[in-house]
Amino acid sequence: MLRVQEQWLSAVNMAKGTFTLGIESTAHTLSFGLVDSDGIPLPSSSDTIRPEKGGIHPREAADHHKDIANQLLENLFEMHGISGRHIGAVAYSQGPGLGPCLRVGAAIARGISSKLDVPMVGVNHCVAHIEIGKQQCGCNDPILLYVSGGNTQVIAHLEGKYRVLGETLDIGIGNMLDKFARAQGIPFPGGPVIERLAAEWLQQQDSPSLQGLELPFAVRGMDLAFSGVMTAAQRLIDNGSDLGAVCWSLQEHAFAACVEVAERALSHTGKSELLLGGGVACNSRLRTMCKQMAEERSSSSHAPPRMYCIDNGTMIALLGHIELEHGRTTSLAESAVNQYLRTDETTVTWAV
Ligand code: AMP
Ligand code: MG
Repeated sequence: MLRVQEQWLSAVNMAKGTFTLGIESTAHTLSFGLVDSDGIPLPSSSDTIRPEKGGIHPREAADHHKDIANQLLENLFEMHGISGRHIGAVAYSQGPGLGPCLRVGAAIARGISSKLDVPMVGVNHCVAHIEIGKQQCGCNDPILLYVSGGNTQVIAHLEGKYRVLGETLDIGIGNMLDKFARAQGIPFPGGPVIERLAAEWLQQQDSPSLQGLELPFAVRGMDLAFSGVMTAAQRLIDNGSDLGAVCWSLQEHAFAACVEVAERALSHTGKSELLLGGGVACNSRLRTMCKQMAEERSSSSHAPPRMYCIDNGTMIALLGHIELEHGRTTSLAESAVNQYLRTDETTVTWAV
């Protein structure tokens, strides 16, 4: 799987085994990233499957990952001027995610670990989002609002684990945005297009008379549910509402629901930092709403750079580096993927 390019070897004089390589392959994106021996991150080399129509098919996504893997890894090495001899360990997303996609990442990790004779560690994708966010934003003990395609969770560190205090009972907020967008003929990923359409619509409005459209609220106690709001938004379109107006109202309702649960989590736990993670955390409106809420309760809200919100190999490398420093490795026998791995199944042995 790994093609070591000899010409790079003479060009670099870094110590052998300096970097931990991270492999992300949970869903639509295959990504390779690196951290150095101090856990300093380097940008990833990534590619996302973008089906012309329909959603992400797990087998097609896995085929995409398999086909693009060598090229992405070569790009990563070229980008950072390194080669295989500089890799000291390999980390991969062990779950949660789509089985066929996870298995591609795990197979690449096994191949690299055995070829380079370096340790391997399978990590929890959700926990990787938390750790890269904490590192990038300098948070100590945040409430994480994790808003991605397949996941929506409000998470806090309590007694040795990242506990899920609230989560979606049906689909992830990103899937909801993507599905709504797809019904309007907008290809994956629909979230950024909805953000643009909502912002353009808002610009055209006379702000004192700003009127949103009515949609159901997604909060269910400390949990969330997004399929009802998606169906109601589609009904507005079917009844002739303006697409931009619906996009704006959809964002306002869905994001306000997330912010409400996050605020309650801050209040219950007494913590004072909110951290955003996952692809939907790229959204500027969501970032603003979180900041407003945090300021109103004398807390702070943080969002990592966008390249570390979306799925990326660097966050997997970082969590792998942290876990390896705390003595964890994954043997071949333990290296099977777990589609349903939960955020709170991973024991947090490192300092938080
Ligand atoms: P992830 O599953 O964490 O890789 O995130 C992918 C999800 O993030 C997809 O559902 C995208 O539509 C969504 N997404 C990416 N950028 C934005 C954005 N600017 N606004 C809303 N959703 C977004
Ligand atoms: Mg993710």
